[in-house]
Amino acid sequence: MQVSLLGTGLPFPNPKRRGPGYAVRAGASNFIVDCGSGIVARMVEAGVRPDEVDHLFITHLHSDHYIDLGHFIICRWIYGGDAPWHIYGPAGIRTMVDRLLEMHRPDLEMRMKIRKTPRGMPNIVVHEIDQGLAAEVDGVRVTAFDVEHYPLDQPFGYLFESKDRRIVLSGDTCPCENLIRHAHGADVLIHECVQYDKWKAPDIDKGHTPHAHTSPERLSLVARDAEIGLLVTTHMLPDSEPRELSEIIRRDYAGALVIGEDLMTL
Ligand SMILES: [Zn+2]
Ligand SMILES: [Zn+2]
Repeated sequence: MQVSLLGTGLPFPNPKRRGPGYAVRAGASNFIVDCGSGIVARMVEAGVRPDEVDHLFITHLHSDHYIDLGHFIICRWIYGGDAPWHIYGPAGIRTMVDRLLEMHRPDLEMRMKIRKTPRGMPNIVVHEIDQGLAAEVDGVRVTAFDVEHYPLDQPFGYLFESKDRRIVLSGDTCPCENLIRHAHGADVLIHECVQYDKWKAPDIDKGHTPHAHTSPERLSLVARDAEIGLLVTTHMLPDSEPRELSEIIRRDYAGALVIGEDLMTL
C-alpha cells in the first residue's frame, strides 16, 4: 500500500500546492481522500484515472476539501462506466452530492445525446458515516475517526490498514488525543500543518485557530506522542518555508520527517 500526495495546500490558491487530496493505492484498488482544487488533474499526473477510483472519502465539509468533487464526478462519468461507486463522508455529504448532480444534469443530458449506448446519471452510492469502520475493500480496512476542527460537528481523519501497512490522514484538526490513539505506531502519518502567524485573512477571529488547526510547534508534540514511522506534513500555507517547518517540528520530534510536496509518493 502506498500513498501519493495530490495536493498539500489549503483554500489559498497556490500553483505549487493544490487543494487537499490524497491517493491511497493497494494492489488494483485506488482510494481518494478529499477532492480539493486541482486534484483531478493531479490524480492523472499521479497515474490514477478517475474511472479507476471506486471509493472516495471526504474528511469534512470545508470547501477546500470538496471543491473539485463535481469535476471528479463528471470526469469519471465521461471516462465511462456506469457501475456503482462510493463516496463516504460526514452528515451533509448526501445533500451535497445530490445538488452537484442536479447542477450538472443539463451538461450530462447533453453528453448522453451523443453516446452510442444509452447512459444514466452517475451511479453513486453515498455513505454518511460515523466514527468506525467505513469500508473494507480487497484487504484494505478504512476507518474514520473523529478529530477536532472548530466549528465543525463531524470532521474525520482516516486510517488505512493493509496486512503490512498503516497509513493515517489527519484531515483538518487541532492536536487531538483521538488522532494520536488511532495513529499510534502507524507507518505513515500525513498531518495538517498550519502556521497561524502567516495566515493572511484579516477577518478571521484568530482566537479560534488553536481549536481548528495544528501549528508546527504542536505537530512536533503530536508526532512524538504518536510514535509513528514517518511524519508527512500537508495543508500548508503559501508562505510556509519547508526548512523553517522542519526546524520547528524537529524540536520535540526525533523521528523521520518529510515536508510534503504535491505528487510525492510514500
Ligand atoms: Zn482545509
Ligand atoms: Zn477545514
